[in-house]
Amino acid sequence: MTLLTPQEAILCLQAGNQRFVSGQLDARDSGAEIRNTASGAHPFAVVLGCIDSRVPPELIFDQGLGALYCVRVAGNLLDDAVLASLEFACCVSGAVLLVVLGHTDCGAVKGACAGLRQGTLTKAFEQLAPAFAAAKSNGQNEPANSTNSAFVNLVAQEHVALTLAEIKQRCPALAAAEEQGTVDLVGAFYDVQTGEVMFSDIASG
Ligand SMILES: [Zn+2]
Repeated sequence: MTLLTPQEAILCLQAGNQRFVSGQLDARDSGAEIRNTASGAHPFAVVLGCIDSRVPPELIFDQGLGALYCVRVAGNLLDDAVLASLEFACCVSGAVLLVVLGHTDCGAVKGACAGLRQGTLTKAFEQLAPAFAAAKSNGQNEPANSTNSAFVNLVAQEHVALTLAEIKQRCPALAAAEEQGTVDLVGAFYDVQTGEVMFSDIASG
């Protein structure tokens, strides 16, 4: 179990992202990190992110071995296996922060916005329909198509918020942990242009 509070865990990720953006990464000794985690690790956070090669959580948050659980699925989509990984990380292993990490220029989101149908991807694109609908109603004057990057990014942001709500709805243990204040569930959004992560939905207190 980590010694950090949920609030400290967020600060830790924010500081790591600042180091990443500024190019001032922590010096790492991989040999020492391997030795220090050989008998076990106590990750303080779990990140549900996309498979996009530009958004590896350990790099963008400048974290070493044993610091993060990372679940990566195209479009950071939920299914039962993903939910089980999130519940394990927080409710069994002791991570105190759950981050749903979306990003700009997401290929899965663009596919959904284009209405693509392709093999096993079709079902994944369909899972993004609620976020597409939410962005369409909140996006006001934005043309709702896959070539409008502002709209695509809006869908991705709506998808983060909807995913957080869905996690709490489908996983009573995580909802209870958040209620008790032992785990924070937060949304975050990575900008592939700048390398910066913006956090949202940060619980007060
Ligand atoms: Zn993506």
